[in-house]
Amino acid sequence: MQYVNIFDSHAHYDDAAFDEDREQLLAALPGAGVRLVVNCGADLASSRKAAALAREYPYFYAAAGIHPEEAHDLPEDWEDELKALLSQPREVAVGEIGLDYHFDENPPREAQRDVFQKQIILANSLGLPVIIHDRDAHGDTMELLQKHRPRGVVHCFSGSVEMAKEVLRLGMYIGLGGAVTFKNARVPVEVAKMVPPDRLLLETDCPYMAPVPFRGKRNDSSLIAYTAARIAEIRGEDAQELIDCAFRNASRLFLGNENATGD
Ligand SMILES: [Zn+2]
Repeated sequence: MQYVNIFDSHAHYDDAAFDEDREQLLAALPGAGVRLVVNCGADLASSRKAAALAREYPYFYAAAGIHPEEAHDLPEDWEDELKALLSQPREVAVGEIGLDYHFDENPPREAQRDVFQKQIILANSLGLPVIIHDRDAHGDTMELLQKHRPRGVVHCFSGSVEMAKEVLRLGMYIGLGGAVTFKNARVPVEVAKMVPPDRLLLETDCPYMAPVPFRGKRNDSSLIAYTAARIAEIRGEDAQELIDCAFRNASRLFLGNENATGD
């Protein structure tokens, strides 16, 4: 499956799953049709690693943020640290940030909401988009998005068609990844059908969420080809045209220019 012009809007190449062969893998991405990648931070340490990747690879950009599962034991000056990181070149978003109520052992909801809200306010003050993680927290997530109206994307969208409509009404983008290809995917398929072409982003969330036929294996940006092929099939569109369209959308959101080259 060979496509070109792939923009992976959400990756975690700082993850230990890539420690063994990160260099070879990242060097091979352009040859596999991957043109640009946004590597997301999940805490201060991984946000620093994301920044380092963006310095090293001309086709990488970085996002910095505190993931809801990391919204505990933060240093007192975490907001200043984040702000300093985000002021570096090739930092294009605050992310990934949001709410995750899935596991009981996650940080208390109040703490999650506080850290989330502060980061949305920070993004707005810096004029940067947000990359939103929402797991089993749709109501509270939407409430804060409606209150602060950031630009951005709800990644690995797992909400209903109704919620997707709300996200779109706020002017935000919807990120779709490997979950669309899963056998039991019903709602993601419905969402993939209804997202307007100019609001759809493609993503991996790698090393997680590999599309069928690689489900459960380590994911990487080249596998977006499979996700795009499935979404195109659902929508009755051409896969390369969908990839091109998602490229323009991600470039518009993160780089402020539809024809961004990555230079
Ligand atoms: Zn992620």
